[in-house]
Amino acid sequence: MRSGDAPPRKSRRQTRLGGTPIMPGIGIGPITFAEEPALPNPRQKIAASDIQAELRQFDDAAKQARKQLGKLKARLTTLPEEAQTEIAPLIEAHLHMLGSSRLMRAIQSAIEDRLVSAATAVIEVAEDQARTLLALRRGADDGAAAARQAEEVRDIGRRLLRNLTHLPFRSFSGLPQGGILVAEQLRPSDAALIDPAHFAGIATEEGSADSHTAVMLRAIGVPAALGIPGLLAAARPGSTAILDGESGAIILNPGQRGLAEAARLRTSFARAQRGLVRLRRLASETLDHVPIELQANLELPFELPMVAQSGATGIGLMRTEFLFMNRETVPDEDTQYTIYREAIEAMDGDPVTIRLLDWGSDKEAEALVASDAISVAREANPALGLRGIRLLLQNPKLLETQIAAVLRAAAFGPVRILVPMVSRISEIETVRHEVDRVWRRLRTRQTRLPALAPPIGIMVETPAAALNAAAFARHVAFFAIGTNDLTMYAMAADRALSDRTGLYDPLNPAVLRLIAMTVAAGENAGVSVSICGELASRPEAVPLLIGLGLRQFSMHGGAVLRVKRAVRATEATSCIGLAEAALTASGAKAVHALIAQTAIGS
Ligand code: PEP
Ligand code: MG
Repeated sequence: MRSGDAPPRKSRRQTRLGGTPIMPGIGIGPITFAEEPALPNPRQKIAASDIQAELRQFDDAAKQARKQLGKLKARLTTLPEEAQTEIAPLIEAHLHMLGSSRLMRAIQSAIEDRLVSAATAVIEVAEDQARTLLALRRGADDGAAAARQAEEVRDIGRRLLRNLTHLPFRSFSGLPQGGILVAEQLRPSDAALIDPAHFAGIATEEGSADSHTAVMLRAIGVPAALGIPGLLAAARPGSTAILDGESGAIILNPGQRGLAEAARLRTSFARAQRGLVRLRRLASETLDHVPIELQANLELPFELPMVAQSGATGIGLMRTEFLFMNRETVPDEDTQYTIYREAIEAMDGDPVTIRLLDWGSDKEAEALVASDAISVAREANPALGLRGIRLLLQNPKLLETQIAAVLRAAAFGPVRILVPMVSRISEIETVRHEVDRVWRRLRTRQTRLPALAPPIGIMVETPAAALNAAAFARHVAFFAIGTNDLTMYAMAADRALSDRTGLYDPLNPAVLRLIAMTVAAGENAGVSVSICGELASRPEAVPLLIGLGLRQFSMHGGAVLRVKRAVRATEATSCIGLAEAALTASGAKAVHALIAQTAIGS
């Protein structure tokens, strides 16, 4: 930014910004920004021998910041022109400061000359420069511009710090209650810290529908929208906003009329939710009496009572990642056992499918890197690297501990073991071998165990697993199709990125073909097949999925009754034609059109 070229003020006019819908519902409240992470050791000295490493880390953090801003800039074109003119100068200013600026040079010198860590240098230099800007121009005509420039320097400092430390946001519980939580981006581990009773809504600038953060937010159950371009620049803390989780829109500074309409919508949404409850006791079957099993995905333990009440007949996917988040050490066998047992007992005889740890990709491998117990090399392409079962096989102790905890918990009710991110048959053979070994060890010690070892199944979420499903069927007891990752790997499009190109779409015929192949392989071999990606929770996709032969769905607890309503309105035999048409459609758009036609016809 040229000096004196101050960025525009945030508007007080009513502004509507669109994003990706995540969790339906209407939230009304003041905007509350997520708090920045607290730095564990604010002033950290380093040895002269560490200078190069700290400079490299700082360089990486700056590169990452430029990339983040570059992405924001690219997405500006999707905003109304007025919003573009407001936000573009802000981004340019930040990019300029991240280039060869006084701020960057001062941070590098602080590391070299004052022998402080990169994080310390960022905090100290950003604050110094912000204060200098304010002091120089105090009382001058351009005082307001100086205040904004100082805030920008601090903003850049915070961004660099976040990139440097990988720390989660500070606890959200200190923030005022009843607001709309706004952040540039939330990581899954940030989302896991949110108390659903605390916020009226959640909105972020980055993020996408099938990311792990979205999965977490659905578990939390608060109206939410992600991937809203321009949100941070336009939102003023404390000003009122309406969040519509159904359409993905946020309305900033709404007028009286808008507020009254939103309040009315919120009431009718709550009434519709209550109306769904009557479905709980009704059978989950199509109009022509084909039974469709509806199970729940469990991401966080506090969902258990809701899942048990949702009408779900078991847990089709228990993601165990939450156990490893927001902690310094890896949970031991007893800690894991207690949590698995609680879930099994809460389901009261219905099966619980416990997935082995699926760490990596957008599930923040950095958090595990922090633990000495796990060896994870930093990778250029984490989604294509040591993720899920690959990471477990490299860390046998981690695998062994989790298997032992699951086997002990299985004494309290029916359990299935689900293996994530499988792409080779040898991986499943190793897991089976490990389960047998741990089983024998526990039995020798007279540990309480179930009569039979739990069945082992795989996530079908890599094209390799789907294409080779017939061979896998000879080695496993069940398939769980994970459309979130299957779409990412089939379309070579990141599930965690805001995507306006339509490339990432589980309804693309390429993904549907992989689903159909898996279903056929399962049917031929008598191996049960479920679908547990986010696609399973979309009522409009129900006829297509039934047409593809799926009879078992697993989704977040809040979606079970909505999906049941769709199942009960569907005729299974008439879905076969829809599925055939979708498999041969020219693209995802055509599949969406087919689904929309079916919805009109039903
Ligand atoms: C999937 O990939 O579809 C899935 C269910 O697993 P996760 O979202 O946890 O990666
Ligand atoms: Mg997955």
